[in-house]
Amino acid sequence: MDYYEEFRVQPGVRPDLDVVNANFKPEDLRKKKAKSRLEELLLRMQELQNILYAENRRSMLVVLQGRDAAGKDGTIRHVFGPLNPQGVRVRSFKVPSKLEASHDFLWRCHQATPARGEIAVFNRSHYEDVLVVRVHQLVEEWVWRRRYEHINNFEKLLADSGTTILKFYLHIDREEQLQRFRDRLMIPEKNWKISDADYSERPYWDEYTEAFQDLFEKCSTEDAPWFVIPANRKWFRNLVIAEIVVQAMEKMQLSYPAPSVDLEEIRKKYHEAARVEETQRS
Ligand code: AMP
Ligand code: MG
Repeated sequence: MDYYEEFRVQPGVRPDLDVVNANFKPEDLRKKKAKSRLEELLLRMQELQNILYAENRRSMLVVLQGRDAAGKDGTIRHVFGPLNPQGVRVRSFKVPSKLEASHDFLWRCHQATPARGEIAVFNRSHYEDVLVVRVHQLVEEWVWRRRYEHINNFEKLLADSGTTILKFYLHIDREEQLQRFRDRLMIPEKNWKISDADYSERPYWDEYTEAFQDLFEKCSTEDAPWFVIPANRKWFRNLVIAEIVVQAMEKMQLSYPAPSVDLEEIRKKYHEAARVEETQRS
């Protein structure tokens, strides 16, 4: 079994985030080796994406969740950045707009799901509706409690429609978060990222832990598994996510579609004629 399979949340299991080591890496794994492995994986991911796109039958949805400064943006840049943008959609979910808020909570997410041949990456997702919404009591409890089932049904619909779903929780600890906020304050290129919300959400750390643990227990399914990724080390986080994505794409057994035309006939009928014409011209 590959070491990263340990990060998968088995259906019905409730991980205890307070004891998950956010600093984890296999003892013998060094940053240098990890970086060259990541490069290999990214090349393979590009090949597989090309076939996914050509096949035009199935799709992939990657959900990224995590506390503030957990590395959602960095993951998108480093792991999904190298893909062909023509086949990727990235969507960041913010506080719902007036229009979004006037619909059911899945409406805006459904619009952003991947079409056939595409990979979609959600930076935050429909899970915010059982996270921030729950922690800050933005709706009544019976409303968010029902959402786990709605989410499972929604994801089942996507899976049944040919979408491979992977959900990653980027796990950093309290010290790492504070360090990253400090960087945002001190490093000019990072200043733009710091917000009041970062600090005002921090006191709710334990409430978020509760909310995350609940959604892992209820919404990690065979078709749409959650992975709890140790994410204090950015290089390890990137590596593990790339490993899991590539493995899932390999499992899809993607293949280039058979040509929709008779190649031999086209060769004879058009290509030969075009070649003759070309020699006559010169
Ligand atoms: P950021 O990802 O830093 O750009 O921040 C986006 C903000 O939007 C976060 O504070 C989220 O908690 C918030 N947000 C995302 N989805 C929802 C939602 N459904 N309801 C309320 N707030 C949300
Ligand atoms: Mg933020």
